[in-house]
Amino acid sequence: MPRNFCRFRLFAVSLLIAILACGSSPAAQTSRASQNIGSPTTVVIDAGHGGHDRGGIPGQRVAEKEMTLDVAQRLRNLLTASGYRVVMTRDSDVFVPLPTRVAIANSYRNAIFVCIHFNSARRMGAGGIETYFYSRDSLQLASAVHYFVAGGAPSSNRGVRRRGYYVLRKTNIPAVLVECGFLTNPTEAAYAQTASYRQKLAEEIAAGVRGRNSVAGALTTTRVATSESIPLQPYIDQTKVAKSEHRQSKRSHKKSARKKKSSSKPTESEASAVPKNPES
Ligand SMILES: [Zn+2]
Repeated sequence: MPRNFCRFRLFAVSLLIAILACGSSPAAQTSRASQNIGSPTTVVIDAGHGGHDRGGIPGQRVAEKEMTLDVAQRLRNLLTASGYRVVMTRDSDVFVPLPTRVAIANSYRNAIFVCIHFNSARRMGAGGIETYFYSRDSLQLASAVHYFVAGGAPSSNRGVRRRGYYVLRKTNIPAVLVECGFLTNPTEAAYAQTASYRQKLAEEIAAGVRGRNSVAGALTTTRVATSESIPLQPYIDQTKVAKSEHRQSKRSHKKSARKKKSSSKPTESEASAVPKNPES
């Protein structure tokens, strides 16, 4: 074991030197090196909710926890087939506290975290796909995943959003949270309840995972956009509004902008932006 470790370090150091000699920016080299050396990338898949935590809003007909688990398992199968090492934070209908999910994610190196949720709102008309990230390192992954999921779903595109959800803030690897549509929207709920659509969602998320290093115009200025590169998705920074928004009570269903925010509010219970008690 020590000998293997030494050999690995030697390999890592020489690879880093080789990349440094190639002349792109140091930040890009480091992240590239950490992505490429050693074992395959680990994808930690986090199916939202589980056990006593059904997800969604009270009285919601379709249980979010079942949909997230099914998509997560399909995603696992696809990524495993693509050569990724996959870790599930849950693989059955059990409750896993948020800190445990984060601890699982943070125990892997050369890993990324993909958290799967479905949205809900009191307004039945609310719908669409949105993808959240928090750290700068997660933007490429969020962009790629959102590009494919929003592009492949019949739902509207609610954009990439930056927000301090617990599982995004506390993870120290690239991390995204995908809201795969509203289960309170009759059309989107009907889609979500078909296996073929959940398979499609999993395929799009997998495409985003595979394409995360092809996002054009991201942190590396040396990267040249090509026809194969994925456009960087514009994002809404919600980190600064999160606090005041959080204080707004559930009755604030006024005006479209506010409504949009409150429509995604119920999901904050599992991934709270201001998580005093994330499981509440
Ligand atoms: Zn959720």
